Amino acid sequence: MAGIYIHIPFCKKRCSYCDFYTEIAPKLIPSLVDAIVSELHLRKSYLQEESIKTIYFGGGTPSILSKSQFQKIIDTIYHLFIVEENAEITFEANPDDLTPEFFSSISSLPFNRISIGIQSFDDDDLKRINRRHTAQEAIIAVNNAQRAGFTNISIDLIYGLPYQTVEGWVNQLDIALSLGIQHISAYGLTYEEGTQLWKQKEANEIEGVDENTMNEMYAILLKKMDGNGFERYEISNFSLAGFRSRHNTSYWKQEPYIGVGPSAHSYNIKSRQWNIASITNYIKALNNNELFFEKEELTLFDKYNDYVMISLRTKEGIDLQKIEFDFGTELANYCLKNIKTFIDSEKVDKIDSKLRLTPTGIQISNLILTELMKL
Ligand code: SF4
Repeated sequence: MAGIYIHIPFCKKRCSYCDFYTEIAPKLIPSLVDAIVSELHLRKSYLQEESIKTIYFGGGTPSILSKSQFQKIIDTIYHLFIVEENAEITFEANPDDLTPEFFSSISSLPFNRISIGIQSFDDDDLKRINRRHTAQEAIIAVNNAQRAGFTNISIDLIYGLPYQTVEGWVNQLDIALSLGIQHISAYGLTYEEGTQLWKQKEANEIEGVDENTMNEMYAILLKKMDGNGFERYEISNFSLAGFRSRHNTSYWKQEPYIGVGPSAHSYNIKSRQWNIASITNYIKALNNNELFFEKEELTLFDKYNDYVMISLRTKEGIDLQKIEFDFGTELANYCLKNIKTFIDSEKVDKIDSKLRLTPTGIQISNLILTELMKL
């Protein structure tokens, strides 16, 4: 089974913390949709007839597309691939796009999951990070999605925003939990080099949250999620029973997928590919029948590193038996030897062949990961 990711790299304005490849160029949307359709045709055999169990429109801002643009892409996917009857079909959206009119326009499309980029329910936070919606609009967007019949709704939140307090974060979580949603992705803010927010921090124009407060916010997140029936199935992802993101879970299980659109990545166990990260060059390449991606064949170490990097973040953790079976005894021994000190210091639990981060291990997951990588 496999997945399809469609990247829609357009945003109406740029959030100050974001380093994703996106552009503010709405005139290019129709040509991009045509190029995506062309790429889907070229990728038809990439997944070798595997059936499609998830389709995910991410971005950028997929909710910028019109119904006919979504329809064109979805029709092409159904025409070229075998899409399973109960496939999970998600689109990401910005709250201010999610009006009753929008939902009514897409009501005949097969979407059954929506991921809303809310980030904060505090207007001061939202202004500071240059989001285009208000806290009230975020709540209305969730209500509109529910009225439109969506019963699988995810929201994104960010903690550790400039000037955010622990009390403020508790309040964010309380609002989120009052909305009757099924899934929350909560990420600690990182200042990515080159972003507007990073420049403001470098110039001392804003005050960040210190590491201890970040850790406290994460601990509160774990407690609140647990207390409200949300399972932490990945470091930053929480769901009610039966509502894990199947699309992201398939990435974490290293199942094959194609990523279509500028800067999208594809993976088929043997190799990784990544598309040109420029809308105009991507469209030009597809129109002129030129190569639009780069490709890397995966070595044994690459495959081991990918597995460790992804699995360490999940609730299921790293399975030494799987490493031995898939990558050999030498790499299984290497992994166990390098993680031992973290087991001894109770940052990692070892139960049989499974290695799982403890709550304090999560706080140093990047350090642990560095030790496990095989270069
Ligand atoms: S809407 Fe999303 S993709 Fe676009 S700039 Fe903001 S965070 Fe980045």
